[in-house]
Amino acid sequence: MAVQTVAANSTTSSDDAGTSGGPSGNTSHDLGAAVALSCRECGTRTELGPSFVCLECFGPLEVAYELPTGDPEGLRRRIEAGPASMWRYAPLLPVPADVAEKPNLNPGFTQLVKADRLAAELGVTGGLYVKDDSGNPTHSFKDRPVAIALEAARAFGFTTLSCSSTGNLAGAVGAAASRAGLRSCVFIPDGLEQSKVVMAAIYGGDLVAIDGTYDDVNRFCSELIGDPLGEGWGFTNVNLRPFYAEGSKSLAYEICEQLGWRLPDQLVIPVASGCQLVKIDKGLRELIQLGLVEDKPFRIFAAQAEGCSPVSRAYKDGTSAVRPVKKPDTIAKSLAIGDPADGPYVIDICKRTGGAVEDVNDEQIVDAMKLLARTEGVFAETAGGVTLGVTRKLIESGAIDPSLTTVVLNTGDGLKTLDAVAPTARPTAVISPNLAAFREAGLA
Ligand SMILES: *Cc1c(COP(=O)(O)O)cnc(C)c1O
Ligand SMILES: [Zn+2]
Repeated sequence: MAVQTVAANSTTSSDDAGTSGGPSGNTSHDLGAAVALSCRECGTRTELGPSFVCLECFGPLEVAYELPTGDPEGLRRRIEAGPASMWRYAPLLPVPADVAEKPNLNPGFTQLVKADRLAAELGVTGGLYVKDDSGNPTHSFKDRPVAIALEAARAFGFTTLSCSSTGNLAGAVGAAASRAGLRSCVFIPDGLEQSKVVMAAIYGGDLVAIDGTYDDVNRFCSELIGDPLGEGWGFTNVNLRPFYAEGSKSLAYEICEQLGWRLPDQLVIPVASGCQLVKIDKGLRELIQLGLVEDKPFRIFAAQAEGCSPVSRAYKDGTSAVRPVKKPDTIAKSLAIGDPADGPYVIDICKRTGGAVEDVNDEQIVDAMKLLARTEGVFAETAGGVTLGVTRKLIESGAIDPSLTTVVLNTGDGLKTLDAVAPTARPTAVISPNLAAFREAGLA
């Protein structure tokens, strides 16, 4: 295991490396219900493979399916009889049917916490829930998309699993690769939280810290993919991105199943690249299409940190043209993507569903982390503080209707971002080991 620091290459590479051929020449891949990749902009279809850019219009590619329609009752029973992991939804994901039997971290099926005490505090009467993804194997929701990317990597014959990461993804990739017996080499911006660096390193793969922002790291990875140096490498969030992204659909499925196969009315979702939010919307619409939930409107709200809020800014300016933030400055480092690939789609979805995009500052993030811990016993990372902070702000502004069922996502574990709360989370008193001293402290 080596941690190296390399300087970010400042030359911008054009993203023309749309296809990066995997080492396997095999073109018939068993990826379950997935049948093709299709362009989100022009709809052009290409065969399943490690491609991420449309060769017609340079739009992003996504997985297209032949979903198991026609017998919603049968499908629901099959899901309910499945494993207590995201693999219960394997029929709706781009994975082989026997995915659960392969060595993997089996993420998902995390708790949906009915947050009654938090609801009382915020004045929510329609039901408030926290989807707590800190319960995943590497303590963030990133285990979900990585589990799908791993299957794609196996199908395409990649032997090294890689990524550009704001911290959580690096740990998730390292762990998944080790369990599966693949090599990993992951890239992070220098200066992340110690716990995230340790988690990215502990699984024994290579970890490279780059002297630059996340966006520098991401550009570097795009160059590496186009270079012989990166041959045989599957980058979960670059050349495997269409597959990786689909993992977040499982959040939508779980939330609805855990609500008794019902759509929530409102969801609040944190945004870094925007990938997760876009796929939760896709997952909800699929459940309607499949007849697994009753069709009704749902609103999606996007949450950002003020110190890196390109999507929120564009939304407030009334445009879908997201202007990149050059130097993100926020304690929510997992959300610090200055140039979010899915930013415009996030704005479209929030507008289409009647939601909104909002941001909160560092102080509001910490307050929300403490509020959630104090009322529900859930210790969220800073990203969770962003989401709850935005929820609170939007309840106050009237954008979120407190009389409707609302689900707030906690995407990571508070132990990953201890520094944010350490100064204010301290012993109430330090005393000598005797009753007199305790009486003196006035805590009885
Ligand atoms: C990566 C990450 C997000 C945001 O994911 P995107 O899909 O890039 O928007 C949210 N929360 C946590 C904790 C993350 O690590
Ligand atoms: Zn296209």
